[in-house]
Amino acid sequence: MKVSEYGRIHSIQSLGAVDGPGLRYVTFMQGCPLRCMYCHNPDTWETESPSCIRLTPEELAEKALRCKPYYENGGGVTVSGGEPLMQAAFVAQYFKHMQKAGVHTALDTSGAASLEAAETVLRHTDLVLADLKFLSEEEYEGYCGGKYQMIRQFLSLTQEMKVPLWIRHVVVPGYTDTKEYIRRLSEEAHQYSNLQKIELLPFRNLCLEKYETLGIPFRLKGVPQMDLDRCEALRKEL
Ligand code: SF4
Repeated sequence: MKVSEYGRIHSIQSLGAVDGPGLRYVTFMQGCPLRCMYCHNPDTWETESPSCIRLTPEELAEKALRCKPYYENGGGVTVSGGEPLMQAAFVAQYFKHMQKAGVHTALDTSGAASLEAAETVLRHTDLVLADLKFLSEEEYEGYCGGKYQMIRQFLSLTQEMKVPLWIRHVVVPGYTDTKEYIRRLSEEAHQYSNLQKIELLPFRNLCLEKYETLGIPFRLKGVPQMDLDRCEALRKEL
């Protein structure tokens, strides 16, 4: 078997409860093209890591299916990252196996990928959890090194392919925590006819230690954690 047929996996959480509906078998892929200022997983950024788990899609499917009794009641499998679309062929193949076994598949993505890669995976995806991080090219470029236009094209593709969509947004104090910003986010999200839900996730700085260990400066050092009551109040703007 060629090395390229293996997925590079950062870690696996066999029963996650926050990445899609129900209990889920969550696989975090290694590698991400973005550098979000609030990223909790800077250890997933590099495409290669000596600590990567290398599995074929079949091997991952076999592992996931062992936990099926725990997640079959409204749950399923999720692939997250890093950016899973960097390993589109692997994820598509894995999802194909899971769908064949009657398991619900969710893709947790920033949408920062070619439409061709995205389409390959979306064909076997039952739900997309898409991060809508900011609302302008300037913010995308400055705060996460991405392209807003690319993310919007990805969201349009999910609509064209009629894949149910949840949009997720990390609310960062001093950046996106105003009613006006959340209203704009809501307007943007509601343009997509496949939208089912918007989730606001409060900014947390628990990853600080990880950054220090990796020797990477944390750009939001000193920014307070998002107040949960305020986040709840903003949720009403959606
Ligand atoms: S897309 Fe996700 S994994 Fe990549 S830098 Fe942003 S938050 Fe981190």
